[in-house]
Amino acid sequence: MLKDLLAHNRNWAAEREAEDPDYFKRLSQLQKPEYLWIGCSDSRVPANVITGLEPGEVFVHRNVANLIHRGDLNLLSVLEFAVESLGVQHIIVCGHHGCGGVRAAMDGDRHGIIDHWLQPIRDVAEHNIHSLEHLADQTERLDSLCELSIAAQVESLARTPIIQSAWRRGNRLKIHGWVYSLNDGLLHDLGCGRSSIHREKHRRFGTHQLKSHSHQHHSAH
Ligand SMILES: [Zn+2]
Repeated sequence: MLKDLLAHNRNWAAEREAEDPDYFKRLSQLQKPEYLWIGCSDSRVPANVITGLEPGEVFVHRNVANLIHRGDLNLLSVLEFAVESLGVQHIIVCGHHGCGGVRAAMDGDRHGIIDHWLQPIRDVAEHNIHSLEHLADQTERLDSLCELSIAAQVESLARTPIIQSAWRRGNRLKIHGWVYSLNDGLLHDLGCGRSSIHREKHRRFGTHQLKSHSHQHHSAH
């Protein structure tokens, strides 16, 4: 019942204030989280609860199947703010086994707009078809695809101009790929993280070459 939520909220706020009279005053004046969490919208994977983090300690973005779409203004706005204003030092891309988004991406049915959203998962499946085909069990195959997708999202995030620029400026923030198991409530680091050593080199496409290319382009007309 909705009334229960509001009652629970009043109790929670009262308890916090009783423990620490300055709690809300302090939080309202400053948020300085060290972490940005990019996770699935699934109600069973709430960032603060499973990591034991308090309000003010983690900046959160969630979408279906924790995907990084390069044109997603919502994600990019969150990312830019988290990196450039909040100064987060760790970005955690967290997916989970038993993800309905991963399942829906691969079941061959038509679900609507969500099929467009889930396309990156089918791309990852296609790139890894040989390793996935070896897994006989369907659940195992989907969970493996879920992990491969997390690694692909980490890579995709690392290549965004926001992250690349931060690393170029000397920011030492790290991106991590984690998976959560609904069966035992445990998080695992997939070891697919990225840091500033993965900064892209653009020497081959320097201004000089671009200029001369555009010159040739014009003279051809
Ligand atoms: Zn999910």
